[in-house]
Amino acid sequence: METSSDSYPRGTALAAAAERVIPGGVNSTTRYIGTPYAFGSGSGAYLDDLDGHRYLDYHAAFGAMLLGHNFDAVDEAVREVIGGPVLSGLGVSELEVALAEKVTSLLPSAETMLLTMSGSEATAQAVRLARAATGRELIIKFQGGFHGGHDAVARNVISPADRAYGLDPLSKGILPSALDATLIAEFNDLDSVRELYDRHPGQIAGIILEPIPHNVGALLPTQEFAAGLRRLTTDNGSVLIFDEVITGFRHDLGGYQKILQVTPDVTTFGKGMANGYPIGGVAGRRDLMEHFSRDGDVLVAGTFNGNPVGCAAALATIGYLESHPDFYTRTHELGERLRSGLQKIATELGLPAHAAGFGGVFNLYFTADAPAGYRDLLRNDNDAYRLFHRRMTDRGFLMLPLALKRNHVSGSHTADDVEQTLAAAEQVLGEIATE
Ligand code: PMP
Repeated sequence: METSSDSYPRGTALAAAAERVIPGGVNSTTRYIGTPYAFGSGSGAYLDDLDGHRYLDYHAAFGAMLLGHNFDAVDEAVREVIGGPVLSGLGVSELEVALAEKVTSLLPSAETMLLTMSGSEATAQAVRLARAATGRELIIKFQGGFHGGHDAVARNVISPADRAYGLDPLSKGILPSALDATLIAEFNDLDSVRELYDRHPGQIAGIILEPIPHNVGALLPTQEFAAGLRRLTTDNGSVLIFDEVITGFRHDLGGYQKILQVTPDVTTFGKGMANGYPIGGVAGRRDLMEHFSRDGDVLVAGTFNGNPVGCAAALATIGYLESHPDFYTRTHELGERLRSGLQKIATELGLPAHAAGFGGVFNLYFTADAPAGYRDLLRNDNDAYRLFHRRMTDRGFLMLPLALKRNHVSGSHTADDVEQTLAAAEQVLGEIATE
């Protein structure tokens, strides 16, 4: 498939129209990658653009399409709520209660749950909660971690080598005091966290982390690191926040915390939880979450929080996952097949590349050794990844354009899809190895 504008007449026209009325032509910065994609329809693991190209979709809207596009069980549930009261602005709906009951029954850390509209709102509320509950200001996050677009988590989200957002901190317009209140440690390096506790005794409100940092691909936490964070936060009276916006429901119905057997105080959700419909959430220990109550001291404000579309979609998505436990075995198997297949191809070609991931999430790092921490990722050959991404996408395999991110097997991908992906990857990596 060619990428010249001749191949994308409708996409090109739409992108030009967008440039005139939307800053930069997109509504979220990383959606712009040069090619004027305009998707008109989607079905299962596939997306079709307006110019007649079909893609096998591993981007999956940054992972939000957990089950696949136009997934009947979810879309039907959404259709059913249309026609009922859309919003009342008073009280609570049956759907909101049902969803909170469901999540609190599944997730080890969840005694109560608050709904938001996005993952960013969920992590913003969680950080504010940690500060309010402890009366402290400082938050620890990990180098490379991404938790949304707000000020408290805007530092050190990208490597100097992968400035897809152009800036680190990721935005201007943030008060220096807000940036200074976020401390950065190294993932899988407990000493780097201890050091911050030693340097700021009694001042650390909480730690926020993705239990698997999928925003830099898939560094897997060591058990020692995860259990160490649990111990350190408990011993120091700070709040441990697992940001499961990507890992939640994807790797297990009980989140990655269930697999790790480390229970945080607070968990945040979003993305795949409602298979593409907008939702986010914060769940956690009842006593902490009480800060959000009407007698509490942390403001909760959101006209669309708990809206019926997001709630119905989330209940249907979770309901499907509960009644189809093979989702987990299948996505894990297909993810493993992609990882082992990509690794075999790279090794046979003598390419310094490492296939990484967990479950249905996979990435190909272009590093000489298997990365264990963020520092190792600074040596990633981002240009090689971008070439890999570009050429796979040109062949109809849609992947994330960012070198250190990840790709997703949804509930709709098949073994045949995976074999076709590996056949294309063999050609593309062969080209890269010989150029
Ligand atoms: N946390 C994590 C781990 C994320 O990956 C993201 C989105 N990439 C967010 C929070 C923010 O979610 P949203 O885009 O829904 O605001």
